[in-house]
Amino acid sequence: MNEFGKGLDYAGMIMDILLLKDRYPFLEVGSIGRSVEDRDIPVIRIGVGAKHIHFNGAFHANEWITTSLLIRFIHDYAQAYAHGNSVHGVDAKQLFDRISLWIVPMVNPDGVELVLSKQQEPHLQQLLEWNGGSTDFSGWKANVRGVDLNDQFPANWELERARRQVANPASRDYSGTSPLSEPEARAMEAFTRERDFSLVIAFHTQGEEIYWNYNDYEPVESESIAERFAQVSGYRAVKLTGSDAGYKDWFIQEFRRPGFTVEVGVGSNPLPYSQLGDMYGKASKIMVEALNL
Ligand SMILES: [Zn+2]
Repeated sequence: MNEFGKGLDYAGMIMDILLLKDRYPFLEVGSIGRSVEDRDIPVIRIGVGAKHIHFNGAFHANEWITTSLLIRFIHDYAQAYAHGNSVHGVDAKQLFDRISLWIVPMVNPDGVELVLSKQQEPHLQQLLEWNGGSTDFSGWKANVRGVDLNDQFPANWELERARRQVANPASRDYSGTSPLSEPEARAMEAFTRERDFSLVIAFHTQGEEIYWNYNDYEPVESESIAERFAQVSGYRAVKLTGSDAGYKDWFIQEFRRPGFTVEVGVGSNPLPYSQLGDMYGKASKIMVEALNL
């Protein structure tokens, strides 16, 4: 265990990224775009290999613990590489030379800030209304315009919208007025198109499950990769139906490559920070497995 990734609001994440960059100058730090409230959405690259892989976290606001999970992994991987060690049993240099890993630890920074109530929210009156008048935002998944960012992608978006039956901005499940109407979703779409990712994983909470398919668009190896992830983590690989418009759905449909949603942890969201250790023990094995396929 280390101090990185501890209880991360947006400022905490930025601080950790700067400290990591300072300590491990081989990390590349950039931005994929800006949120509704004009926060930078950072991306960290580790590794120089020709094969590009992407992990993301905190698409959903009250799943902010996935940010901590990813920051901690960057720390452990970078430290292992710097010292010539292995990361969770695999030689870090071998991974670093072979793989370029791009991590977006917090896709929905405004939403995370809202859930953590860390600052004066400029749209508070409107948000309270969308939250049924409650000042308790712990159930909030959406961005600050009340749009669920993981229902925003052009992969049968209309079907998802009809299924959800949420007609207006809300804490969750509202798909927006059109696919990619939100800057955070557009940033993820553009970033993903720019890179030639062989594989992507979106980390969510909770349930200890791995979703690997989308309408039979996934390549044949997706199922066996999910089974490997399940084996190393103890999670269940689940074939999902009746769900559309998510990031991994779109990635699979668009690129016909392996894309996964991994639901880490157990309980009700937001999961307590005290779960991070156990969660990290399992999820980091999936991360290393993804790099070492
Ligand atoms: Zn989620």
